[in-house]
Amino acid sequence: MTTAAPAVWIGCLHCYNSGRLVGHWWPATEAGDVDLQAVHRGSGDDPVAEGCEEIWCLDIEGMPVTREMDPAEAARWGDLYTEVGPEMWPALCAWVRSGDYIEGGDGMPSVADFTEAFAGHWSSFQDYALELADGIGLLDGVPEDLQCYVDLTRWARDVEADYSTVDAPGGVYVFRNM
Ligand SMILES: [Zn+2]
Repeated sequence: MTTAAPAVWIGCLHCYNSGRLVGHWWPATEAGDVDLQAVHRGSGDDPVAEGCEEIWCLDIEGMPVTREMDPAEAARWGDLYTEVGPEMWPALCAWVRSGDYIEGGDGMPSVADFTEAFAGHWSSFQDYALELADGIGLLDGVPEDLQCYVDLTRWARDVEADYSTVDAPGGVYVFRNM
């Protein structure tokens, strides 16, 4: 489960190819400001003398994708994290990992669509459906002393066709199909 803030280990490709791991961890939100000098800090190597040119995110953490990427892309993930906030981040990551998510114009997950799709964290879909039934007054026409005899399980199963669920700590994330 992705609960951590996104972070990247940015290293020097030239040093890496020469068998030296030169780099550091940064929060993805700072990845756009990292340069050759910052990557080589503390290594004892002079990147200019060594002929170093390119830096690259060789390890990543707290993101819904696991591929290596350039620091500019890491910075875009950092911006996304800032936009949705730490509380919503695990849900957004789950949405992206489900594969059934919507991209914005920049190729990154669309926060507007995520916000529209996300129906919250629930102990089960059934739990969400019961709350929904209550919210829309599904049983309003049924006399109160009969309501407890109405089995909403089948209704919930029909409703579930319009949603997707993704496993989450202590339950599921519920997303509206869009
Ligand atoms: Zn280097």
